[in-house]
Amino acid sequence: PFKGNIDLNKLQRLIDEKGAENIAYVCLAVTVNLAGGQPVSMANMRAVRELTNKYGIKVFYDATRCVENAYFIKEQEDGFADKSITEIVLEMFSYADGCTMSGKKDCLVNIGGFLCMNDEHLFQDAKEMVVVYEGMPSYGGMAGRDMEAMAIGLEESMQYEYIRHRVLQVRYLGDLLKEAGVPIIEPVGGHAVFLDARRFCPHLTQEQFPAQSLAANLYVESGVRSMERGIVSAGRDNKTGENHTPKLETVRLTIPRRVYTYKHMDVVADGVIRLFKHKETIRGLRFVYEPKQLRFFTARFEEI
Ligand SMILES: *Cc1c(COP(=O)(O)O)cnc(C)c1O
Repeated sequence: PFKGNIDLNKLQRLIDEKGAENIAYVCLAVTVNLAGGQPVSMANMRAVRELTNKYGIKVFYDATRCVENAYFIKEQEDGFADKSITEIVLEMFSYADGCTMSGKKDCLVNIGGFLCMNDEHLFQDAKEMVVVYEGMPSYGGMAGRDMEAMAIGLEESMQYEYIRHRVLQVRYLGDLLKEAGVPIIEPVGGHAVFLDARRFCPHLTQEQFPAQSLAANLYVESGVRSMERGIVSAGRDNKTGENHTPKLETVRLTIPRRVYTYKHMDVVADGVIRLFKHKETIRGLRFVYEPKQLRFFTARFEEI
């Protein structure tokens, strides 16, 4: 159930290989967006803390979906069923030196985010940088109105009823697709259902961008917008110019918080299932425009 966990043996090997002095920090994503929104267990966070403490390496969380992660801990990890979401989140962060957080996800607001750290000196340095890149330290590039909204969003996000509804709604969509035989990444994570494009489009090679094409075809079929997470997202090697070839080719169906009902999930599932029934008609793609940076955001394609 905790496929977001860091492999401690691999981390140990990396530290041995590169040397602790060459590692600025360990970034732990709670939950792991790119791997299906999979959560990290409290036991793993504690173990990462213990290992990095031995070497004086800092740990920063990508805390964008930390409340969803806390829900999974409450639901599935031994010893947490009776703890509140707030208590679980507090314990999670006790094993970190700081975090980055996008406000657009678990903070329940339209825009913004924040950077936190426990180290006073590091904090001073960051405060000097924020003036250069974002705005005065008192608002860090955000409007006062947006900061107030975020403060309220953070409090509301800790409500058990809300986060339970959110995670279960995502799971409901996953269950509908599974029942129809549509290949998805399991278990279903906290914020999205990920279609497995390799199994959805076995007739396409990875170089034909199966996940990108699946996303485009789903939009044509049903008007549902999704996101490629595969070879297009992985980009090219800076040195060789070759495409990175990730193991996973997925399409992310991300569900906004507090926007949709279960009936909307039925509509999304219907669209995906309809497309699945004529999946052989999905053709490969090639680039007609490929930007140098973060190509998955703005690239354009045509059918082969
Ligand atoms: C959205 C997201 C970000 C980036 O946040 P922005 O507010 O869009 O800059 C970083 N990490 C994760 C895991 C995200 O989902």
